[in-house]
Amino acid sequence: MTQKKVPITVAYGDGIGPEIMEATLDIIKAAGAQIEIDTIEIGEKVYTRGHSSGIEPSAWDSLRKTRVFLKAPITTPQGGGFKSLNVTIRKVIGLYANIRPCNSLHPFVQTKHHKMDLIIVRENEEDLYAGIEHQQTDEVTQCLKVISKPGTEKIIRYAFEYARQYGRKKVTCFTKDNIMKITDGLFHKMFDQIGTEYPDLEKEHWIVDIGAAKLADTPEAFDVIVMPNLYGDILSDVAAQITGSVGLAGSANIGDGFAMFEAIHGSAPRRAGQNLANPSGLLLGAVQMLVHINQSDVAEKVHNAWLCTLEDGVHTYDIFKEGTSKQKVGTKEFAQAIIQRLGKKPHSLKAIDYSNAVGKTIEVKASPTKIAKKELVGVDIFLHVKDRDPNKLGNAIKEISAGKMHLTMITNRGVKVYPDGMPETFCTDHWRCRFKNEQLEPSTHKDIVSIYQQVMDAGFEIIKTENLYTFDGVAGFSAGQGQ
Ligand code: NAD
Repeated sequence: MTQKKVPITVAYGDGIGPEIMEATLDIIKAAGAQIEIDTIEIGEKVYTRGHSSGIEPSAWDSLRKTRVFLKAPITTPQGGGFKSLNVTIRKVIGLYANIRPCNSLHPFVQTKHHKMDLIIVRENEEDLYAGIEHQQTDEVTQCLKVISKPGTEKIIRYAFEYARQYGRKKVTCFTKDNIMKITDGLFHKMFDQIGTEYPDLEKEHWIVDIGAAKLADTPEAFDVIVMPNLYGDILSDVAAQITGSVGLAGSANIGDGFAMFEAIHGSAPRRAGQNLANPSGLLLGAVQMLVHINQSDVAEKVHNAWLCTLEDGVHTYDIFKEGTSKQKVGTKEFAQAIIQRLGKKPHSLKAIDYSNAVGKTIEVKASPTKIAKKELVGVDIFLHVKDRDPNKLGNAIKEISAGKMHLTMITNRGVKVYPDGMPETFCTDHWRCRFKNEQLEPSTHKDIVSIYQQVMDAGFEIIKTENLYTFDGVAGFSAGQGQ
């Protein structure tokens, strides 16, 4: 079939990136991929040229033009104000869904989990990856966990739609909503709510800690798992590693107008330049890309040749095991072995059939936001106070009030320490003082300004404030622990 070449943007990345990208492109071109490559430079070299984002403005033009990005891993310099370029790219071009398939290749790749075949659908833009962090006192730092209704709805709908399109039976949700009742609570609630629209699919929710333990122990119990960003990042590495190597998993990052394909692993700098790295993760990312650009015949050919190669025991160092493997090869030789097998189907592992895959068809939209009756009912004022006696602080500000608001509690690291705190509670220099009334009666911004002024006049350093609201009468803030 002759087909018009599809323009794609390619970045060779850092560390093992260039080697695995070369191998990947050699294989897909040999398989007949109809692509026109526009190469951009990102990562370490760009960071050291003084672009703290790791990408030059001109590279965005290429992405805007092609809207399809095949990206090798890059090295994020530690500290120094450098932001992770991976996170930047995902967020700037709205790649909200990260799809990470992990399956067992038993008995050809050694793994304890012979029947594992799961897909992790990771929310890709929000959560702690919003990257909003502050140091507020000598002792306390914080990171804001942002979970939005539209962001959550899109990823959950995507997971259900994906399960339907790919003939999956069950969707599981992992959260920690027993602790984070508002943020993870929203994610769980939306999962339950949207799940009712998919009666054909089985649904379940696990608290992430025990869910992660179950995933590491019995991964065959899962099918599609949808998670907020951080849990998905961590657990997809765990899931990939227990199939045999983190080097085996590829991933698709999908947005409304863009898509990016990559390996899930990083740039493994210690393995760079030695023709050692396993290119499978990036290759499987490229296979997902070929499906996305409607070249599923090529995707199928590559995927099956890769399975044949693994079946024949031709393995890179990371999956090589005496007894199971037959030949230890480097990156280039592994790519050549796959090329030699193009057109073949695996004899023992299940052959891949992409004949029903129809490119980018999953499109989800968030529902219009329902506007609630929102009322201001108080304020949390955060102070930097070195004296560790909560009663001294409480007694100094207990008379402060404005409108209906007065001091109801003081917490330290979220634990109530005033009034009636426990003497055993360890206190830092970071205090949260809550001003409201018990009946949640409405206050005004003017009252808050008055409280702010009175706290300052009492000689305290305010480091931040957080307004307290109710939405349709329901408190939009958590209680203090021990309250
Ligand atoms: P890593 O995934 O790069 O490597 C961890 C270890 O896994 C390696 O030492 C190696 O033993 C093994 N490994 C990884 N990929 C392999 C492959 N293809 N073949 C064989 N073995 C492989 O994780 P890291 O060392 O924590 O991170 C290194 C750098 O990569 C950091 O700068 C990090 O920020 C970056 N990183 C980038 C991405 C990305 O670009 N998408 C993702 C994760 C980490």
